[in-house]
Amino acid sequence: MWLELWTMLCIEGETLVPGSLAALPRLVALARSETQALEMAGAIVRSAMTDDHQGERMFVENPDAIAELRELVDQRLQTRPADYIWGFRTLLAIEGQFHWSAALGDFSDDFYEVACPHCSLNVTIAIGGYGYYSACRDWDAGDVDRRDLRPASVAELHGMGRWMYDLAVRDGQDRLAEGITYLMGRAECPRCASVFRMADEYAAVNLPPMLSVRLARSKIG
Ligand SMILES: [Zn+2]
Repeated sequence: MWLELWTMLCIEGETLVPGSLAALPRLVALARSETQALEMAGAIVRSAMTDDHQGERMFVENPDAIAELRELVDQRLQTRPADYIWGFRTLLAIEGQFHWSAALGDFSDDFYEVACPHCSLNVTIAIGGYGYYSACRDWDAGDVDRRDLRPASVAELHGMGRWMYDLAVRDGQDRLAEGITYLMGRAECPRCASVFRMADEYAAVNLPPMLSVRLARSKIG
């Protein structure tokens, strides 16, 4: 039954179909006792947040369901489940952090692309098993001209970065917490050697405009 519902409401957890948002309150009610319903509701929220209009509609039409879902996911995270990053990303989506919700991995081997704000070079950022560096990605030679990333100190973290870090630390997710300090830190451009904050550049490009406004208004943003 769950597989059928999953296919109906949320194909492969990515694409929203009409009716998905309407099903949210009932799914959240089921999610109190059914992990499957919790995962499905989370997938719908993450999908809705990829679209400005749908994201807004979801918050306006289902404020109670979203608030309860947030609570249920937070409770689940505190049990430190094996698929921790799944719930973490759902919470990020609920906080309006669509870009991180969509992009964040578990830092086992994460790569991000950001444009250097000074020379516009596409800079590859590695955070994880392959190292912690900025580089030029070359199809043949791989990541060349690598520079070490400069992680933010815990004291430097603020806003969403601090919130993400504290959550990961609370739940004993050491690799995730460490990865966040790199993600919120600085990178050096391999071409022009300017140093910039990766999160700023990444958010500027990947955050949908309406959500940027929501974020500016919210206490966390
Ligand atoms: Zn540059």
